[in-house]
Amino acid sequence: MYRSHTCGELRLEDKGKEVILSGWVQKIRDKGFMVWVDLRDRYGLTQLIFDEERTPKEMIDKASQLGREFVIQVTGEVIERESKNPNMPTGDVEILVTELKVLNSAQLPPFTIEDETDGGEDLRMKYRYLDIRRNPVKNKLIFRSKVAMEVRKFLSEKGFIEVETPVLIKSTPEGARDFVVPSRMNEGQFYALPQSPQTFKQLLMVGGMDKYFQIVKCFRDEDLRADRQPEFTQIDCEMAFVEQEDILNTFENFTRHLIKAIKGVDVTEFPRMTYDEAMKKYGNDKPDIRFGMKFGELNDLAKNKGFNVFDSQELVVGIAVPGAASYTRKEIDKLIEWVKRPQIGANGLVWAKYNDDGSLKSSVDKFYSEEDLKAWAERTGAKAGDLILVMAGDANKTRTQLSALRMHLGNELGLRKADEFAPLWVVDFPLLEWDEETKRFHAMHHPFTSPKPEDIKLLDTDPGNVRANAYDLVLNGNEIGGGSIRIHDKSTQAMMFDHLGFTPEEAKAQFGFLMDAFQYGAPPHGGIAFGFDRLVAILGGQETIRDYIAFPKNNSGRDVMIDAPAKIGKDQLKELNLEITANL
Ligand code: ASP
Repeated sequence: MYRSHTCGELRLEDKGKEVILSGWVQKIRDKGFMVWVDLRDRYGLTQLIFDEERTPKEMIDKASQLGREFVIQVTGEVIERESKNPNMPTGDVEILVTELKVLNSAQLPPFTIEDETDGGEDLRMKYRYLDIRRNPVKNKLIFRSKVAMEVRKFLSEKGFIEVETPVLIKSTPEGARDFVVPSRMNEGQFYALPQSPQTFKQLLMVGGMDKYFQIVKCFRDEDLRADRQPEFTQIDCEMAFVEQEDILNTFENFTRHLIKAIKGVDVTEFPRMTYDEAMKKYGNDKPDIRFGMKFGELNDLAKNKGFNVFDSQELVVGIAVPGAASYTRKEIDKLIEWVKRPQIGANGLVWAKYNDDGSLKSSVDKFYSEEDLKAWAERTGAKAGDLILVMAGDANKTRTQLSALRMHLGNELGLRKADEFAPLWVVDFPLLEWDEETKRFHAMHHPFTSPKPEDIKLLDTDPGNVRANAYDLVLNGNEIGGGSIRIHDKSTQAMMFDHLGFTPEEAKAQFGFLMDAFQYGAPPHGGIAFGFDRLVAILGGQETIRDYIAFPKNNSGRDVMIDAPAKIGKDQLKELNLEITANL
């Protein structure tokens, strides 16, 4: 028996008990006549004591030879501590050791295994297994497991069945590149790793499973923008015989349950906003509605007043920054520099101060009277004491830039509070999205999403304005879930592929199995998928998903611990009928 108790378990009530503990040496304090060791495992820390008067000499010697992170087993008596530590759950007791066994020695770890470590990010990634011993990392993994349990509990209770779908499949178009896997047995052919189980979950509906879910790995080979992982986890769900309303209700309850169970917070409202409104009011299809600063469009108020910087632009739009009228010139300049950085790419900012005394002053006083600025204030919702910031340019670009500024200011002003949860549904997404690069329309969600029946007639004449039965669940400025009501008949699906530029042959070759299935009685169906990593991070009050993944990859998609991806040997290449042509 390695242990009778864990290192987080013993209390004063256990005084006098003989116990066996196993764990890692966290810390050693050696006074010669007395040695203390902090013993750690997942559950906590317990102090061990070896002292001259009560411990045989050779055991004290052995104890003083222990090193940090040695794995040891001790037997001893639970005694009351002389100087108690109220900050430790086990702080009232210590173990007077009678037997000590070294189960494994350890090299000095490359960084300290403490809550506050001296190890930099790269080093900790390389030795992730050591990092996982630290409370901040360990606790996040425990937290993730707790959320996963709640997910399974809720969905199972609602009649969802967890079904595993294959990992070696054919392309699923979710808008990224596929990772591919060569097949040894099928020469010259490749599997693709799923970008999501999309087609399989739909086939499960054709198969009559009715309600499906899965906590599942998905793989997308995309350039890793900040905080994306090439492999990530989804809570993938699908339901048959549902309309959009049924899905929204089910997953509103699901989200409400998770926030309550994990955070103890009651979320009542799940407002709905159309995609158009989200873009106009927040410049973003995943608005953070924990704070205001909604956009006010100023075209009619700011153009044709002699300020030709604005006149020539498609959109003039502003926000009111609460309480920022007192910003100094320097503070405003800092914001202007911020939006001019290449990451944002704006030309600059026009500002207007709505002073506490009700007067207005702007950087463009030459062109706009106080009256004009009052109208700006009204439009942007600015009150006395606020600062109005205005941008102008191409509508889409400017909205994106102002949205970035809004989020930046939200952070700076402490308006994005981690313990506040403000979900909303964004609905009525466009079905198609114009891609400048390929000069073609792409499915904004994926090609299986159904168009709104009343918009189908626009498909030929005005494809960009066809709306989809698609929805995103947004939480605190993050898209945590997204889904759609699907097409479930062959002819609509064929028409959709046609609009996306597939020839009938290409559509058949890639998705013939799905269209075939639709001929055998496919029920109306729809679903949603949640980004599990992100959901966990947000519930944990943080925005980096990497912290919540046991073995994450870095920004270049590398696992620096196992050093992957890696080259493979000539034999393996030959077996797979592959040849590396680039000179690597
Ligand atoms: N497959 C979609 C995704 O991964 C979600 C869905 O449509 O259910 O984003």
